[in-house]
Amino acid sequence: MSVKKAQRLVQEIGASLEDYARIEAQLIAESCSPPTPRDIFWRAANEMIVVGAQQNNWRLVSMAYGKMAFTLFEEDQPHYQLAKESKRASIMGYMESRAAAKRPLDGKVLRILANACCEECEHFHLREYTFDEALEQAPLPPAACSRGWCNCCWDNARSKPVQMAQEKLARNPFRVDLLEPKKKSY
Ligand SMILES: [Zn+2]
Repeated sequence: MSVKKAQRLVQEIGASLEDYARIEAQLIAESCSPPTPRDIFWRAANEMIVVGAQQNNWRLVSMAYGKMAFTLFEEDQPHYQLAKESKRASIMGYMESRAAAKRPLDGKVLRILANACCEECEHFHLREYTFDEALEQAPLPPAACSRGWCNCCWDNARSKPVQMAQEKLARNPFRVDLLEPKKKSY
C-alpha cells in the first residue's frame, strides 16, 4: 500500500493527515523498524472503531471496519469477519438513529438490499428483520456470497419506494460495480 493510498484511506474513515503523522510517530517509537503505510492505516482504523463506539457513531465504526475488510479483500486475504463487523455496526447505526428520533425500535424495521450482488445473495433481497433478528442472525454478508466482495446492504424497511433505496445504494461507499467476481473468498 502506497503512502498516498494509506493517507486517502485514513481520511475516508474520518481521521486526518495530522492523525496519520501522529500514528506514524507513535509506531516508530513503539518499534525500531519504520511502520508501513498499511500499518498506519490499520492503527488509525482501530482507533476510529474505539472512538466511534464510544461516541455511538456507528457509521464511523462501520466505515472503519468496511475499509479494513476491503483492504484485506484487495490483498486476497480473508475479510469475512471484518465485513461482518462492518454490517453489524451498520445495524447499530440504524438503531441509534431511530432511538435518537424517538421512533419505536420494534417490528421489522430493517431490510436487505442485495443490489444484484450474486445469485446466493438474491435470496435475501428485500427480506425484513427486527433489530434483534438482524443482530442475532447477522445475515450480512451472507456466508454463501459467491461474489468475493458482497454488495448487499441494510436499508430502512419503511423507506418507500424501492427506487429511493436504489439511489441510496448508489451512494454506498463500499459498492463495487466494476469489479468482476473473482473467487469465493469467504
Ligand atoms: Zn453476494
